[in-house]
Amino acid sequence: MLAYKCAWYGKRLVVVKPNYTSQICSHCGYHSGPKPLQIHEWTCQSCGTHHDRDINAAVNILHYGLKAIG
Ligand SMILES: [Zn+2]
Repeated sequence: MLAYKCAWYGKRLVVVKPNYTSQICSHCGYHSGPKPLQIHEWTCQSCGTHHDRDINAAVNILHYGLKAIG
């Protein structure tokens, strides 16, 4: 669905693997391990950044996408 919608609007679609995006700190890259789904917020044990689970994952996906297109 995203592929044809991007084509309609002349946008570029970059597909990235979502693996570990909710486990890795988007600020320092520390891998904090799996968390139960009911955990919505967490604090990085390495850099102390407090994360919203979904926003942190979204930032990681953005970083992967930007890296993929160089
Ligand atoms: Zn961190």
